[in-house]
Amino acid sequence: MTVEWEKLFAGRVGGMSASEIRELLKLIAKPEIISFAGGIPDPDLFPAPALSRAYQKVFESNSGPGDALQYTISEGYTPLREWICAYMESKGARIAMDEVLVTSGSQQALDFLGKLFIGPGDLVAVTKPTYLGALQAFSPYEPTYVSIAMDDQGPVLDEVDTALARKPKFLYLVPDFQNPNGITVSLDRRIAIIERCAAAGVAVIEDAAYAELRYDGDSIPSMVALDAERNGGSPATVIHCGSFSKTMVPALRVGWVCGAKDAVQRMVLMKQAADLHTSTINQVVMHDVVSEIFQGHVRRLRDAYKQRRDAMLTALADFAPPGVTWTKPEGGMFVWVELPEGSDGVALLERAIKEANVAFVPGAAFYADRSGKNTLRLAFSVNKPERIREGIRRLCGLLGQGAV
Ligand code: PMP
Repeated sequence: MTVEWEKLFAGRVGGMSASEIRELLKLIAKPEIISFAGGIPDPDLFPAPALSRAYQKVFESNSGPGDALQYTISEGYTPLREWICAYMESKGARIAMDEVLVTSGSQQALDFLGKLFIGPGDLVAVTKPTYLGALQAFSPYEPTYVSIAMDDQGPVLDEVDTALARKPKFLYLVPDFQNPNGITVSLDRRIAIIERCAAAGVAVIEDAAYAELRYDGDSIPSMVALDAERNGGSPATVIHCGSFSKTMVPALRVGWVCGAKDAVQRMVLMKQAADLHTSTINQVVMHDVVSEIFQGHVRRLRDAYKQRRDAMLTALADFAPPGVTWTKPEGGMFVWVELPEGSDGVALLERAIKEANVAFVPGAAFYADRSGKNTLRLAFSVNKPERIREGIRRLCGLLGQGAV
């Protein structure tokens, strides 16, 4: 008798699929390929010296590295949580210490939120498109998705109303420079969404992974801050996920989730069950580094990424054939391209890799309903401006030949 694995797997495993982005990244590691596929920070911009100093400090301290190498509390390293509370307060949201949980990247927070709220068949509202990793985190809990269309101001309110009338458990969105389409939700739209969700008794999950990476335009208060403002200082409707992956480095796996105590305290129990706590030494080092360089380093990132965003937008304006449109993000890492109706992003990718040595992510992966076949996500974060221009020239050359 042999084990028939598929028969042993739980039903929810059917909802899990390998990330198309990850599968793709394996194929395009060749140096001749100009890749706009990975939505990752540029390693040349990592604050390596500050990290090195902080790790050294741990090992050279008079008391020795014992505490940093030991188990710690599930809620997270206390000085780091204090830093996060002060940071959130500086953004207008008063978060108490028992309303914040340090997670192993904000991705873990998305998994916990799925586990906390979603039972089989429960409705979950997401934007169209949305962050693929959120769909991957939620799908094993077997939700039914309600997808909300977006315009250049964010989720379309009529569609928000229609979704809320169906009583989803929560509405998940990335209000700043959304991965994948670069769109930022306007202030009016943020307020309207919070008000509608509060009235309907539906939680809002705000994923703020890119919020610090603004290159121009006025900064807009986070949804958790707006929620706190209308509720006397503390959040009531919005749960906020934060991350150090885009502002510092992803490899330490340090993020956080904060909001209503009832929800966060449940997630502390999930944290205990999942991995007891996020790496102690990495939290100690992250705390040291953000205390020292956060503002200055973020300014440096903004300068570098702004040039790349500008290079991509200029190249698209110079080379894109008629019928192709794209977003003009005020920050983040992504430009979203829309090809004429009937175009197929996956077919284009195959040709782009083979014929133009260019890669990107076909947009359909970011739709819970698998629509959006004529869209592409282009990340400008990892390539230098000249390479971005060359990649866009090649890609648009292919588009101009009617490759779509
Ligand atoms: N949310 C969004 C919108 C993201 O793009 C990412 C990373 N790609 C994450 C969350 C997860 O980031 P991390 O787990 O590294 O904090």
